[in-house]
Amino acid sequence: MTAIVEPDIAFLRRPQRLYIGGEFVTTAGRLPTVNPATGGVLAEAPLATEREVDDAVAAARSAFPSWRAVPPTRRARLLWDLADRLEQHADELATIEVLDNGKPLWEAQAVDIALTIELFRYYAGWTTKITGSVQPNSIPGMLSMVRREPVGVVAAITPWNFPLLEVAYKLGPALAAGCTVVVKPSELAPLSTLRLMELVHEAGFPAGTVNVVVGGPEIGVQLVRHAGVDKVAFTGQTATGKAIVGAAADTLKRVTLELGGKSPNIVFADADLDAATGGAFGGLFFNQGQACVAGSRLLVEDRVADELVERLVGRARSLRLGHGLQPETQMGPLISSRHRERVLGYVTTATEDGAEVATGGAAAAVDGFEGGFFVQPTVISGVGNSMRVAQEEIFGPVLSVIRWHDVDELTELANAVPYGLAAGIWSSDTSKALRLAERLDVGTVWINTYGMFDVAVPFGGRKQSGFGRELGEEALEPYLQSKSVWLDLDAAVPTSGQGISR
Ligand code: NAD
Repeated sequence: MTAIVEPDIAFLRRPQRLYIGGEFVTTAGRLPTVNPATGGVLAEAPLATEREVDDAVAAARSAFPSWRAVPPTRRARLLWDLADRLEQHADELATIEVLDNGKPLWEAQAVDIALTIELFRYYAGWTTKITGSVQPNSIPGMLSMVRREPVGVVAAITPWNFPLLEVAYKLGPALAAGCTVVVKPSELAPLSTLRLMELVHEAGFPAGTVNVVVGGPEIGVQLVRHAGVDKVAFTGQTATGKAIVGAAADTLKRVTLELGGKSPNIVFADADLDAATGGAFGGLFFNQGQACVAGSRLLVEDRVADELVERLVGRARSLRLGHGLQPETQMGPLISSRHRERVLGYVTTATEDGAEVATGGAAAAVDGFEGGFFVQPTVISGVGNSMRVAQEEIFGPVLSVIRWHDVDELTELANAVPYGLAAGIWSSDTSKALRLAERLDVGTVWINTYGMFDVAVPFGGRKQSGFGRELGEEALEPYLQSKSVWLDLDAAVPTSGQGISR
C-alpha cells in the first residue's frame, strides 16, 4: 500500500470554534476528535455549554423574522453561492471527512461531498417554487387562501456516518423554506460541519440564520426540550429517536426522524449473479457497513446461496483495508474502538446462536495503522431471521446470509424486522420484482441496483426506521406549515385613513 503523509489543512490547525449569531465563538471546553485510522487526536472541537445552546437558539429566533422575509430569489442566490464555495473546497472537505470519519477518499468525494453540493443547488431552485393555493369554499362572497409558511427555528441533530451530508439534508430544505437553524453535529465527527460554517459565513447568510453548537447527547437533549425550537430534524439511532419523541412532547414540537435499518437485500435464483454479487457486497460493505441503508440481511434463494456465499467470501478476503487517504483503500476503519467492540460482539452472538462465520469476524491489523479501528469484512452464513444478527442493526461490515426456498414466505421474511428503511431485489424477472416491491414495508426499494440516491428522490423510513422524508420536494414539507386566510370580498372598503396602513 502507498505510504501517506496526512495533508496539512489550514482549517485543522486553527482553533475550532462554534458559530452563533454570525460570530465564531471560542469555548473553554474542548472535545478531542479522533482519526479512526490512527486512533490519534485529530483536532479539539469546541464544546458548547448550556449557555451557548441558549445563545444559538436565541440567535436563530431573532434571525427568523428577517430570514423568512428575504426574497426567495435572494435566498436562492445564497444557497447557490454556498454550493459554489463547497465545490471550490471539495477536496479539502472530502479530506476532512476522511480524517474525522475514516471513510475512503473516493467515497467521500463521490458521495458525501458531491451530493452535498448538488443538494444546495437543488434546494436553491425550490425557494421560488413554494406556492400556496386558493381553495374553493361554499360561503358566498368569501375568498379563502392557503399560505405555506416556514415553521420557525429548526434544531438539526445529526450522526457521524455521513457527517456533512446529513447536515446538508436538513439545512438545504430548511433554509429554502425560510427557517433558521441550529445544527448539532455528532460529537464523533463534527469537523466538516465547522468548516461548512466558515463557508456559510463567507457566502453572506444573515447572522443567526445558521448556527452550530457541538457536544454530546446532553446538548441534543437541551435542544429538543428548548422552548425556542419549533422543530427537530433528527438522524441517528432508533433508540435515540424514541427518546427524542418523548422529550419533545412537553413543548409539542414537530419532529422528523431518520433512524436505523435492517434492510433485506433479496436475491432470486434467476438474477444476474455477477450483478447480484456486486450489489450484495457494495450494499453492505460501503462506508464500512456504517450506513443506515446497509443491506445487512442478504436473503438468497436456496439454489444459488452456496455460489453467492463463495463469491462474497472471495471478494471479502481480497478487500483492501487501509487509511482512507491511501488510493488503494477500499474499506477504512470503524468510527471508534467502542463501536468496533459492539460490532464484534454481534459476531459472537451469531456463533452462539448457531450461525457460521464464513469469513472475517475479528479486528483487522493494518500495517502502519496499528492504532486504527479496523474490522475484517465479515460474512456470516446459516443465519436465521430471528437471530439477533438478523434483527438488530449492527452498523458495521457484517453481512448475514439467510436462505429461503418459498417465494410465498419471502415477503413475510423480508418484512419480519422492526425496521422499514430500504430493500434490494435482484431478479431478471422485473414484473416479479415489481410485484414484490409493492409488498415490502419499507421507504425505498432498489431493483437490480442498490444504494442509489438522488437529490430529487425522497428518502426515509417506515416502522421503527422513522418518519418524514429527506431529499426531493417532500423534504420541504416538514419545514412548512399552512395558514388559511379568509377575505370577505363584499366587505365595505374602509375610507381613506381608516384602513390598516401598508
Ligand atoms: P446517535 O443516535 O447515537 O446520535 C445521533 C445524534 O444524536 C448525535 O449528534 C448525538 O449526539 C445526538 N444524541 C444522542 N442522544 C441524544 C438524545 N437523547 N437527545 C438528543 N440528541 C441525542 O446515532 P449515531 O450513532 O451518531 O448514528 C448512527 C445511527 O444513525 C444508525 O442507527 C444509523 O442507521 C442512523 N442513520 C440513519 C439514517 C437515515 O437516513 N435513516 C442516515 C444515517 C444514519
